[in-house]
Amino acid sequence: MTKNILKERLDKGPVICAEGFLFEIERRGYMASGEFVPMVSLDHPEVLENLHREFQHAGSDIVEAFTYNGHREKMRVIGKEELLEPLNRSALKIAKKVALDTPKGSKPNLMAGNISNSNIWKHNDKQSQKEVEGMFSEMIGWAVEEGADMLVGETFYYAEEAFKALEVMKKTGLPTVLTISPMGENKMRDGKSVIDTCKELEQLGADVVGLNCFRGPATMFPFLKEIRNAVKCHVGALPIPYRTSEDYPTFFNLPDRSNCECPSPHGRTFPTALDPHFCNRYEIGKFAKDAYALGINYIGVCCGANPMLIREVAESVGLNVPASKYKENMENHFMYGKNKRIPKHMTDYGDKA
Ligand SMILES: [Zn+2]
Repeated sequence: MTKNILKERLDKGPVICAEGFLFEIERRGYMASGEFVPMVSLDHPEVLENLHREFQHAGSDIVEAFTYNGHREKMRVIGKEELLEPLNRSALKIAKKVALDTPKGSKPNLMAGNISNSNIWKHNDKQSQKEVEGMFSEMIGWAVEEGADMLVGETFYYAEEAFKALEVMKKTGLPTVLTISPMGENKMRDGKSVIDTCKELEQLGADVVGLNCFRGPATMFPFLKEIRNAVKCHVGALPIPYRTSEDYPTFFNLPDRSNCECPSPHGRTFPTALDPHFCNRYEIGKFAKDAYALGINYIGVCCGANPMLIREVAESVGLNVPASKYKENMENHFMYGKNKRIPKHMTDYGDKA
């Protein structure tokens, strides 16, 4: 029996996983928002490699291949099905390259293959489910061939789609993480409760179960508490860094209440005008600290994540990471610092600035 390298690491302490490549690559100008297809692994591999390195520098232990939405259905939507396999292999090779090149002093990174919500899964529809299984199988096959150390299935809002994903992932014998993403009704779209879905995923053999995406700290945390109590396996927590609330549990329907004169032309803050809802780093740090205190050891940030927030997560659970070298230092600020060199006429002016 081969050892479960992910579980071993989680048994000893926190494991950090950066997600949210979709939003960050879009912000950097290498992806069309709304459409959200990760062509970057083919069009600008150097950009993707660099983002992986930045997350690694900020403390991510896992280099998750950016194949989110890189599935057959999405490639059909954009009429580029022939690029499906090249896109997947390129994303996996880039992730593997970065994972094998862990900075000195850091624990070796793990490369994760990735599958996620297909968007064609339909409740009680065998035909669509068969098709989704085929999509999962081909992507997992490429991940194994390209040397994945573990597999992540994420952002599932149908319980049964998550079960199917896990079934396909489990066949490989690799460590598995399965995180689900209930939408605004606070349950899975096929009616199952979030807690029952996580319990069933544990029964089916997932090494880590939990939640990722759609929900900010405020509306993800209450579920995490319940999940932590309901399962024995490790729990994963990867919120979006946006201020969701009981009235708006996910980022899909968050209204902009700041009387913004330039709302998005498509009428929603999601996904291009969410900025005023962004959590500051301290909110994300508190989330990570509180989740870790509950006994949740697999922690990260999903859509909206950036390297600064990943560093905040890592430091909040007691880790020192390469980017810690550049952590906040207000002491030397030109108006607010206490350094002896900062002149009094500058520090005195701080409140008027
Ligand atoms: Zn996400």
